[in-house]
Amino acid sequence: MSNVEATDMESLPEILTAFEQALELERELGTRTVDCDRALLAPLGPKDLKDPKDPKDPKDLKDTKDLKDSKDLKDLKDSKDLKDPNDLKGESRAMPTTEELAACTKCPLATLGRQHVVPGQGNANSPDFMFIGEAPGADEDRQGLAFVGAAGQFLTKMIAAMGYTREQIFIANICKCRPPNNRTPNPQEMEACLPYLRRQIAAIRPKCIVLLGRTAMNGLFPTQRIRRCTWYEYAGIPVIATFHPSYIIRFNPVTDAVSLRTAKLEVWNTLKQALAKLGKQPPKK
Ligand code: URA
Repeated sequence: MSNVEATDMESLPEILTAFEQALELERELGTRTVDCDRALLAPLGPKDLKDPKDPKDPKDLKDTKDLKDSKDLKDLKDSKDLKDPNDLKGESRAMPTTEELAACTKCPLATLGRQHVVPGQGNANSPDFMFIGEAPGADEDRQGLAFVGAAGQFLTKMIAAMGYTREQIFIANICKCRPPNNRTPNPQEMEACLPYLRRQIAAIRPKCIVLLGRTAMNGLFPTQRIRRCTWYEYAGIPVIATFHPSYIIRFNPVTDAVSLRTAKLEVWNTLKQALAKLGKQPPKK
């Protein structure tokens, strides 16, 4: 491979992330479909271009009657795809230690100037809530603690409004190392770090998980496009997602799709939904 091609490949994850963010913006603006020239998809091969209305692939069959009729049912049952990818059965329940994370070299973030790994902190004994953000920033990298900078101060307010202290819940990130210049971690970095987060979830057993921002949403559900304000499950634990606190504190009326008031209201409604899931309400002021 030539140097130019190698460099192009290196920037691919960033290009894809920028593309994804642009699509996300379109979605926020109400766009629901994207026109695409089928010729552009041709390199994917005929398998990937099959008509979605033609359920020849047993995985496309919608209801169980169709499945019962399918001669491919046995193959489908045996298929790896049918296993819940979020299942934590058999997952190590050993909390990753700071020493273990500091020795990790599974992705380049280990060598890109981080000062400390940031495992996350708080109540690791089945807390009501586990909040998951993106990756440490400069303050977190300096102190080895999650969400201690400006975004962390806003998160503290969110947690207090719910009637909790930071010590009563657990706060973690998708990536445990700071990406240079606070860039978004790329999919490879998130994938490399996910086993640590899965072990944390298996060990901590939070009653509810709140994902903060698109990176956290993609990081925990890499094969699924999940939405804010909607309930999902991860290994049997209810999960809901909302805006990252940075979206609120660094709000830019020119580039941000949702108005600040709408975003704040949505965050608060999501936190109330999370409380309601556990049969709780925010404290009366
Ligand atoms: N942003 C994050 O996503 N995580 C932190 O720990 C700090 C800022």
